[in-house]
Order: sequence, then C-alpha cells, then structure tokens
Amino acid sequence: MLSTVQGFRVACSPCAAIRPSSRKGRSFQARKAVRASAVQRKTNTGKNGAKYLSTWLLKEELAGRVDNELAVVLQSISVACKEISCLVKNAPIAGMTGVADSTNASGDEQKKLDLVANEVFCRCVADSGRTGIVVTEEEDTPIAVESTSDGQYIVCFDPIDGSSNIDACVTTGSIFAIYSSEQDTCKVDWSADGNDEILEKCLTNVRKSGKELVAAGYCMYSSSTVFMLTVGDGVYGFTLDSGNTGEFILSHDNIKIPEPGAGGQNIYSGNNGNVDLWAPELKEYVQHLQQSGSSYRYIGALVGDFHRTLLYGGIWLYPPDTKAPNGKARLLYEVAPMSMIAEQAGGMSTWGPMADDRVLEVVPQTVHQKSPMFVGSTGEVKRLQAFLAAKKN
Ligand code: MN
Ligand code: MN
Repeated sequence: MLSTVQGFRVACSPCAAIRPSSRKGRSFQARKAVRASAVQRKTNTGKNGAKYLSTWLLKEELAGRVDNELAVVLQSISVACKEISCLVKNAPIAGMTGVADSTNASGDEQKKLDLVANEVFCRCVADSGRTGIVVTEEEDTPIAVESTSDGQYIVCFDPIDGSSNIDACVTTGSIFAIYSSEQDTCKVDWSADGNDEILEKCLTNVRKSGKELVAAGYCMYSSSTVFMLTVGDGVYGFTLDSGNTGEFILSHDNIKIPEPGAGGQNIYSGNNGNVDLWAPELKEYVQHLQQSGSSYRYIGALVGDFHRTLLYGGIWLYPPDTKAPNGKARLLYEVAPMSMIAEQAGGMSTWGPMADDRVLEVVPQTVHQKSPMFVGSTGEVKRLQAFLAAKKN
C-alpha cells in the first residue's frame, strides 16, 4: 500500500510544477475535485444498493424480481458483451474488419465480426445451461440448446447491431431479448424428438409478442462500453470499467427518457435519405419538426441512435417505406427489446399509420419478421400521433 502512495506522489509531482499558481487556477482545481467526487458518489448508490452488475443481479434476485435462472442468463450475456467489446475495439489490428462472403436470413451481407460475435454470444448463452432456445440474427432458424438443465428462457439477440459501421469504428452494439416460455411445449425431448419436431417446437415457441419479455437490453460499444438492462422494473445502465476492475459498474440508475421542457431535447432521428419513400403525412411531419426548431441527429446504428434518445429525449423513426414496407429492424431481437426498454423508461414505442399501435403487442409469424417503429419520449410520440390524427381528419 505504501509503495502505491509513494508512486502516486512521484507521478503527480511533475503535474504540480505546471499547475497555474494563481488563486483562480487553484480554485478551478478545487471545483473540479468536488465535481468528480459528486459523480463518484452518484455512481455508487443505485436504487437497489448494488455497484456491480453481478451484485445488482443478486439483489434483484433477493427482491424477487428475477429468478436464479434469469440472473445466470443475464450474467452470461454480460460476459459475451465484454468479449465482443474487446473484439470490436481491436478489430482493425486483428484482421477482423471486412466481409465474410456470406449473407444472413434477412439478406444482409455478413461481416467477419458478425460471425465471430455470434459464436461468442451463442457459446456464452449455451454455457449458462439455463437457455432452451436461441434465436440470432445470424442463423436462419432458432437453435435448441442441448446442454441445458431447464431452459425455460428463449434468448434472442443481434450479436452486432450496426455492423455496416464497424470498419469505420462508428458506434455498434449487441441487442438481446429474453422471453419466458412457461408452457412445457418449449421443452425439447432429445431422446424422442426428431430434428423436424425439434425445429417445429422451436419455431412455435419463438412466436412471442413483446408482452412475454422478461428482460431486454443492449450493450453499446462506443467511447465507453455501456450495458443497458431492464427486467421489467425500470432501466439501469452499467459502464464497463475496462482497464481497472473489468466489471460493469452502475452508471445510470433507473433512468427515464426526458420530456421536452423537462430536460429533454427536441431531437428527431431517422434516415432522412428515405423521406421521399415514406407516407406523405410523415414527410410533412418531418418538415413540421424542421420548421418548429427540432434538431436532427442520425448515426444509422439503432443502438447508438436509441441510446441517445433514451438519455437526451426526442424521437427515432423507422416508418415503412416503398423499398422496405415493414422497415428494416427485426421484431424479436431489435424492435421488441428496444420497445420494452423505452416503455420501462417512461417512453413509448408504436407503429401503424396513426402511430398508435403498441409494438409490444405484435406477435411475429416468422423468426426474422421486421417491424416499423416510432420510439421516444411519451411527449414526442404523442406529438406525432396528434399530427397524424389532424392530417386524417
Ligand atoms: Mn441490427
Ligand atoms: Mn447484426
């Protein structure tokens, strides 16, 4: 301990020599120190009293909001996200950029990192021994997990969202959705079922609306790696303490999407390049936003655009267009989990011509079914609804 203190002093002494010696300079240093310690205190006092994601999950289990199986699955997912975070950060020097010469079920060109991250995610979730069925963006059909002790949960994920951005080191993320399957029909009988029966059981079991979600979240790989999670009782964020403890540490406690006039910003987001392909009233809505002083922000990666909307407020639009009549985002592992997070943060997520159909009510008919989405603060989504209603009348 003594050597650490001595080392610290030695490291700091050259800085002291170039510090401004004026009174103003010293008070600036003092103010900065106070602010830093205030941030530190906030970080360490979560609603359930935990600092680390791992202890947060244990406390949620003690409070009866998650069961042991779910805590284990979520813990495994967080480990997958740590590994993927490392892969993403080192991709340009590890030869992991570029395409893999294959396409997924949605027809997207797969990147090398899509495939590696998919393998990491599948392995971590299967190794938890608590998952019955896995659905991933990168596999055509659901996967039944053989080495599972119970498997009442269906884990759906997009291992890397925004992978078309990845070679340019733009924000990406992993999105996950955990559906409960309390019916026994979920369970595959490995000794009696043939491959066709197993596949059929899996396909039947993954036709779930977002109302059957028990947990949803995403991990964003950006200037920080941030793991956002809801288990149906608010939204919590944990930042990866990389280089130090290597743990996810609570940084966003029970967050709510800020409303306009109450800390929220008037931001709209969506692919403006497609506005001419949208319904005319949505094009008019965008013009109305532009004329009424809204700002426009668009990364083009769902996780990044959604994360900003969650923290700053505003609305993110992915309406149907003439090229993609159901939008581009997939219901089970992109649109539904984001919708659950938005609702848990006090916001709304809707679709339909009047933007008044709740996304979480939609039951997918196919594994990779797409869905449009209007998501944001309740005030902003209601403003869109009012605009569309006024146009129809
Ligand atoms: Mn995606
Ligand atoms: Mn993806």
